[in-house]
Parts: sequence; C-alpha cells; structure tokens
Amino acid sequence: MNNFIVAVDGPAGSGKSTISKLVAEKYKLTYLDTGAMYRMVAFYSLEKGVNLDNPREVELMLENIKIDIEGDKFILNGVDVSNEIRTLRVTSIVSKTASIKAVREKLVELQREISNGKRVILDGRDIGTVVFPNAHLKVFLVASPEERAKRRLKEYEEKGIKSDYESVLDSIKERDRLDSTREESPLKKADDAIEVDTSFLSIEEVSDKISALIRERI
Ligand code: C5P
Repeated sequence: MNNFIVAVDGPAGSGKSTISKLVAEKYKLTYLDTGAMYRMVAFYSLEKGVNLDNPREVELMLENIKIDIEGDKFILNGVDVSNEIRTLRVTSIVSKTASIKAVREKLVELQREISNGKRVILDGRDIGTVVFPNAHLKVFLVASPEERAKRRLKEYEEKGIKSDYESVLDSIKERDRLDSTREESPLKKADDAIEVDTSFLSIEEVSDKISALIRERI
C-alpha cells in the first residue's frame, strides 16, 4: 500500500517517540521525529548566534541549513548532531525557534517531501492538524505533567545529563505553555484524533492500543 500516514501528536514526554519507534518497527513504517528537525534549527541558531527576532537573519539561516535524516541519525550540513540536539541548552530555546512561521514552513515542506509515497509514522505537535490533516490515523497522546517530568528525568539520568525533578517539571510546563499558545500551528488535538492518556499505561499497552487502530485501517 502506498502513502499510509500515522500522525502522533502530544506534549513533551507523553511517550510519542518511544511508541512511534515501536509501532514503526512492528509495521515496517518509516519513523519521522519532527521534533528533532526543530531541534536541529534551534541548535544551528545557537551555534551561529542567530538573532531569532530578526526575520532577515532567520531567512538567511534557513537558506544555509541542510537537514538529512539517515536512520536514527540527524545530519545538519553534513555533521551528525544527534546528541547535540538533545541537550538542555537546545531544549530551552527550541519552542521559540518552532514558533517562527518561516521555520515551520520550511520544516513542514520537508516533512511532506520525506513522507511522499511512503508508509510513515510521524510524531510532533501539528502533524494531524497541519502537516497531514488527511492522515489515515491520528493519535493524540497525553499524560500529566508530573508523570511526563518523571519520564524525562529518567531519560536524562540514563544519558548522564544532570538535572532534577523540579527543573524538568518547570521546563515541561513552560514548553507546554509556549507550544500550545503560539500563533503558528499550536499544539492541539485534531478533531478526529484519538486521545490516549498514557499516564497509567505501560509502553506495551499504549503500543497495543495503537497497533489495534492501525490494523483497523490497513
Ligand atoms: O518532540 P520534541 O520535544 O523533541 O520537540 C521539541 C520542540 O519542537 C517542541 O517543544 C515544539 O516546540 C517543537 N515542535 C513543533 N512541532 C512539531 C514537533 C516539535 O513545534 N511537529
């Protein structure tokens, strides 16, 4: 079957990437982590000292950025930045970068291009509302901020990134606020998306639920 699209949206730490990767493997879908693409732009802006409030500088930056995704590697202008884009430094400015219309236009175009003619699962904030409003399946994952902060902290610990529960919780709440109140493509459940609260479900339980929804559609 050609061009089968699964859209997985939701706030930070709701389980989007873990679940999407599992489901991608199970159904041989291409997995596209769109958050990583916004992180790459944020990382570039930090490295080059781009003033994000200056539209000309943003325009120039976008002309100079080349994003390639090879499996789970994120390549920015020929350099693998997969680890660099996950740092707290990038996380703290990514929502600002993602609120810029020109940035979104470029990345949405790229997301559509990458997905063209493929069977894809994409995770993000605006996949079901903006990138693929006609997706075959739309899932909106939610979980309490406290549960999401606990999960993030665990991930950081595993990666050796120093942090603490309170600051992770604050950062999650602040990103929720910025992502859902911005003017351009805010984080929002599509009317026809299926909401799954992952707070009290295991990864397997969420993956089973989504797998069942996929089986109904293929
Ligand atoms: O998913 P992740 O937490 O890596 O996303 C990082 C940031 O990128 C989000 O907080 C949000 O600001 C932005 N983003 C977005 N639209 C997407 C994916 C991510 O605005 N489709």
